[in-house]
Amino acid sequence: MKVNTQDIERALANQEFELQYQPKVNFLKGCVSGAECLIRWNHPDEGFISPDDFIPLAEKAGLITEITAQIISMAIKAIKDLRGEGFEGSLAVNTSPLDYKTNLIIDILQEALDQKEISCHDIQIELTETATLGNQNDILSRLHHVTDLGFKLVMDDFGTGYSSIDLLGQLPFSALKVDQGVIGRMAKSTKNLNIVNMVINMARTLRMDVVAEGIEDRNAYQFLAYAGCLEAQGYWISKPLHFDEFKTFVKSKPRYPSSQLGMIYHAHMNNVYFRKSVLDAALYANESTDLHMPSVANPDIFFEPKETRLGQWYFGIGQQLSDRPNFQAIEEPHRIMHEIGVNLFNAKFEDSHEMILAFNEAFERTNEYLHLLEAELMAEESVSLVQEAKGSG
Ligand code: C2E
Ligand code: MG
Ligand code: MG
Repeated sequence: MKVNTQDIERALANQEFELQYQPKVNFLKGCVSGAECLIRWNHPDEGFISPDDFIPLAEKAGLITEITAQIISMAIKAIKDLRGEGFEGSLAVNTSPLDYKTNLIIDILQEALDQKEISCHDIQIELTETATLGNQNDILSRLHHVTDLGFKLVMDDFGTGYSSIDLLGQLPFSALKVDQGVIGRMAKSTKNLNIVNMVINMARTLRMDVVAEGIEDRNAYQFLAYAGCLEAQGYWISKPLHFDEFKTFVKSKPRYPSSQLGMIYHAHMNNVYFRKSVLDAALYANESTDLHMPSVANPDIFFEPKETRLGQWYFGIGQQLSDRPNFQAIEEPHRIMHEIGVNLFNAKFEDSHEMILAFNEAFERTNEYLHLLEAELMAEESVSLVQEAKGSG
């Protein structure tokens, strides 16, 4: 399919671009949590043209930001309409790094907030790196501006192309979207499966959520739920839908399998990480003669239990399990572990032996209850999986 710059200019003027909406599901709740807005071009002569066939050209021709501006306006209109229907999720729009060469996109978002058309939670901004963004300070600072307005920034297509780990350190991403190719290859080898596991672990360590796209079957869905992903997107849930179809889809309140097991696994991993960070810091502080420790010795430790990664799960979505004694039992040793952690962090190493023992004991007790809770849920979920298999067989 051959399109040229004039075609795109005409399409912009004639408003030939439309959006389709691909539902996303929350793995912990099993319900629709939002949708990704995907551009569709209904060319008057050529019919449907894939975004892969014109977005790169629009970027080259300097037209991408006009397209993004139209897309965002359409998404704002759509979310207002959906809110009227009681929809509580958010819409994610795709943007190009080139969109942040000027203030246009920020101005549109700012205006929508000022006019109270949307709240910052209604729209998420996906960013796909099409060329290395590295040292382009104007782009980086505008992207910071977007998150300062409260919008969530999601790194799209993570694991492929230019979406680098280095960029994760430069921009305030709140989520990673694992590339559909990476998800698709999971089933092909254990190595590929472990890459996905490691990406999720890395994201959790960086306090980022993980969205998996390109989920085409039940097995991939279930694996990613147990691995601790937050949101699912892919043909197994639904293809991209026209707006009216999406509304009907949301109204039908579809339910998908949900599990807290992935988050319990990560709560355990976060606990292991916290213990190591505190012990390292205590050891390093003892070795350092310099009171102003270099930043490498200031690990990402939060002593307030609610602010820790485990705490964010426990006091957040984990509360779905609050009636279970093994869940309730986690709170006390976790709190004690953090109380001792503060003292340990500030103590001289030679005075800290007793503290380390008490710290370890609280650590072990926290893990023990996490594991008991995990075993309890696994028993229940395996029963329901067997029932489901019998039902379908
Ligand atoms: P993306 O942002 O990674 O979007 C996901 C793409 O994967 C979509 O293709 C979607 O239809 C497809 N997909 C979803 N689930 C599955 C699945 O289970 N299996 C497979 N094989 N594919 C799945 P689409 O709509 O053709 O879009 C392609 C790319 O074009 C997008 O990739 C995005 O990078 C770009 N794009 C789409 N809409 C826009 C837009 O409004 N603005 C910009 N700048 N780029 C856009
Ligand atoms: Mg995307
Ligand atoms: Mg993608």
